[in-house]
Amino acid sequence: PKEITTLVTFFGATGDLAKRKLFPSVYNLYKKGFLQEHFAIIGTSRQEMTTEEFQTFVSDSIKEFMQEDADADFIRHFDYEKADITVAADYAPLKAKIEKLDQEFALNGNRIFYMSIAPRFFGTVAKYLKSEELLSTNGEFNRLMIEKPFGVSFETAEKLQNELSDAFSEDQVYRIDHYLGKEMVQNIATLRFGNPIFNNAWNKDYIDNIQVTLSETLGVEDRAGYYDTAGALRDMIQNHTMQVVGWLAMDEPTEWTDTAIREAKNKAFNALKIYTPEEVAENFVRGQYGPDAANTQNGYLQEKDVPADSQNNTYVAGKLEFATDRWNGVPFYIRSGKRLAAKTTRIDVVFKQDANIFNNTQPLEKNVLSIIVDPEGKIEYSIIAKDTTPEFKTRPITLEWKVSADDKAQTPEPYERMIHDTMDGNGSNFADWNGVAVAWKFVDAIQSAWDATHQEFPNYVSGSMGPVAADELLARDGHKWVYEG
Ligand code: NAD
Repeated sequence: PKEITTLVTFFGATGDLAKRKLFPSVYNLYKKGFLQEHFAIIGTSRQEMTTEEFQTFVSDSIKEFMQEDADADFIRHFDYEKADITVAADYAPLKAKIEKLDQEFALNGNRIFYMSIAPRFFGTVAKYLKSEELLSTNGEFNRLMIEKPFGVSFETAEKLQNELSDAFSEDQVYRIDHYLGKEMVQNIATLRFGNPIFNNAWNKDYIDNIQVTLSETLGVEDRAGYYDTAGALRDMIQNHTMQVVGWLAMDEPTEWTDTAIREAKNKAFNALKIYTPEEVAENFVRGQYGPDAANTQNGYLQEKDVPADSQNNTYVAGKLEFATDRWNGVPFYIRSGKRLAAKTTRIDVVFKQDANIFNNTQPLEKNVLSIIVDPEGKIEYSIIAKDTTPEFKTRPITLEWKVSADDKAQTPEPYERMIHDTMDGNGSNFADWNGVAVAWKFVDAIQSAWDATHQEFPNYVSGSMGPVAADELLARDGHKWVYEG
């Protein structure tokens, strides 16, 4: 691999995410040769810690999460500087350290700042990075990696965006959505644009409907403090689901670059129909889990720290419409929820079926392309073939491909990929501002319609695939969920 020259400053370096995901990812990039001599990592947080202690913290994280002893030559590139990110004066020693390491490892002023900190600090850090002059003026790049969530509504997201854009231009900002780092999500574009059979049929003439499912089996666990204010709509739909939909709904980009990919996605996002309250009632279903059938699991309202009268959604299903030539009249059904029958992320593309040469009395089954993202990467294509009986009959068969154990071992974790892509300046697999803004406007319209109406909860049993109303939503259009749990 081509060596990347860069300095990365991790804000929140003593936190849970840094320890579990970020340092192991950086170590993988080192082992693969993307990072060799010319890199340095600065950890910063408000904790008092020496560089030696921080290096031990990083070694321990690699031991714990990769079961490996990190190379001493790797660890030597790590340094630590304590700073309270809300205090302007604390940025001066950090700046001095950045400049020192830039010299020591010959980093050419290439800088990445990773914000692994609470979202309320994102804007503050961006502001001080600029005002306290931590951005290099002589390097090839200054880039900002930013964790989620990006706002909690359009209004808050726009405020954050304004704060970021005072210091960084859009092409310097890498907004993390780890679903975009998943192997099979990245495979959507390859399947679409690499195969004429799919590429040519990827439109309203051939596609009946598209379904995106992000289901979890766990309940709220001990995160009610956060989750009760977010719900499935803001926790899973606004970000991950919408970003997956972007890859499905976009036109073919004019070229394979991040700029052209974003442009194509934004054309689709900008054509997404934002609903009125009446349309929300028609096109969206909210749910909240009750106990399981055997009554061994709590319902949401009985969970720790959940207000007894909570109207929060632990399940969302809905229909998206894109007003483009490609998609007019084709519904995109999405759903996500907790305490469902199975944990999976999958996409089911249902094709139209009008073949009738076989004197069939019943309509033939529809072709379905399923892209299974989690828990195991898989592609299934369900098509019509001949049955073996003496009289001529047809039957659906399924072509299947699975990620092999070898492939799986080779596949980088999302965080490794996202850090690599940022170092490499490739923004293809990050959320951009326009897409995030549209997703918030779409979701805000749903949330405000729900806030204005009362719903009886619970309305689905733990361990099921959600409320009956979600099945009815598709049945009204003459469709049904391909995946039934
Ligand atoms: P954490 O609470 O474990 O760590 C927070 C870090 O911020 C610590 O290093 C702490 O010292 C530092 N910090 C807090 N206040 C500070 C201040 N005033 N000055 C300087 N440093 C300060 O949080 P986390 O779980 O590591 O999450 C970090 C970010 O990543 C958050 O934005 C979160 O939403 C996001 N995220 C976390 C996960 C996860 O699995 N933990 C997953 C996805 C996204």
